[in-house]
Amino acid sequence: MNAEIIAVGTELLLGQIVNTNAQFLSLQLSQLGIDVYFQTVVGDNHNRLKDTFQHALNRSDIVIFTGGLGPTKDDLTKETIAEILALPLELHEESLQRIKGFFKSIHRQMSHNNEKQAYLPKGCTVLQNDYGTAPGCLIEKDGKIVVMLPGPPREMKPMFNNYVFPIIRSETSDIIYSKVLRIFGIGESSLEEELADIIETQSNPTIAPYAKEGEVTLRITAKCENEEEAQERIQQVEQKIRQRLGITVYGEGEESLEEVVSNLLIQKGVTIAAAESCTGGLLAEKLSRTPGISSCFNRGMITYSNESKVELLGVSQETLNQYGAVSEQTALEMAKGVRERSKVDVGISITGIAGPGGGSTEKPVGLVYVAMATEHKCWCQTLRLAGNRERIRNMTSMRALDMIRRYLIS
Ligand code: ATP
Ligand code: MG
Repeated sequence: MNAEIIAVGTELLLGQIVNTNAQFLSLQLSQLGIDVYFQTVVGDNHNRLKDTFQHALNRSDIVIFTGGLGPTKDDLTKETIAEILALPLELHEESLQRIKGFFKSIHRQMSHNNEKQAYLPKGCTVLQNDYGTAPGCLIEKDGKIVVMLPGPPREMKPMFNNYVFPIIRSETSDIIYSKVLRIFGIGESSLEEELADIIETQSNPTIAPYAKEGEVTLRITAKCENEEEAQERIQQVEQKIRQRLGITVYGEGEESLEEVVSNLLIQKGVTIAAAESCTGGLLAEKLSRTPGISSCFNRGMITYSNESKVELLGVSQETLNQYGAVSEQTALEMAKGVRERSKVDVGISITGIAGPGGGSTEKPVGLVYVAMATEHKCWCQTLRLAGNRERIRNMTSMRALDMIRRYLIS
């Protein structure tokens, strides 16, 4: 089966918003083993929308619309689609009650316009909107599936996942099952090289790497007749990959690096404190995201100036004079200092040059030192990062998290 996505909205054509809905839907459909051949954007215009839909019906098995289901005049997706499919719009009483209830729950008067949202093409499957007013709908006609979803991503995504995904899955004979492995500390191209033979010889499951800022995810997708078989196939490949990549695989599914690190700290009961210079508290912010971390995360200090490094961490003025604030020596003293003063198990420090100014030939922009101190040892990692200030700061905080992770599992 193949599909086509049509995003409706003049705002999209004007470049005021980015078509993230299409990206989301394409990803979901690929998980269902459905090929997406076209993504189209069309404005809120009756004739052009009609044209676009007619084209889509001629060439695709599934046509998914997002946007233009709202209560106002320019929201005309439903009317246009119903017209072409020759389906009258009928009042769906349950949706009307839901919309009324929605307004009641937010203590607002429902406007007459909103009633329009409860009119849906005759014979469609109504898709309940759990996060807004406009219901979506799914129509099966002449061997085609047409789906209409609201524009706002927070309404569209759960509607697709909860109500559309299961219907489309039941139409395809195969079960598609996938698992995501999250990897940090190896680039996408090195990873592809490392796994080249596995990736090339695999056709079911398939393995798809996807690089995000600083990390790589691998999606392993199996197409089988039943879930057990799919799980079995995935597990075999997963095992091979894990053997190859070892410690660089930090998590699965939606887990983030900071979540994994914070949970490791909690599980192992290791207390920690951070002293940050060029990242200005980013590491502390990431560490503090996970609930329950208060039992381990003692403090984060932002020691930007030399004086603060001396006053708050006990870095020696001599070290600063001799080696500079951005140096391995300073980083090590910062880590020791924050550990001792906070009376924790582990101290971590960051000092570096985030740019764009302040670099020199010996100490270029992107040079960062991350040091850790425990009761028995201290060590420092030198990073040479590329990119702008934001990227350097962000990558540094991620690399620091990874350093903590590697220490905790070693
Ligand atoms: P509403 O009831 O809010 O009017 P709607 O179904 O009519 O919803 P639109 O009016 O087309 O949807 O869009 C509403 C908002 O949803 C947009 O302002 C935008 O923020 C978001 N949105 C719409 N389409 C997309 C898209 N393709 N990608 C990302 N966001 C989108
Ligand atoms: Mg609208």
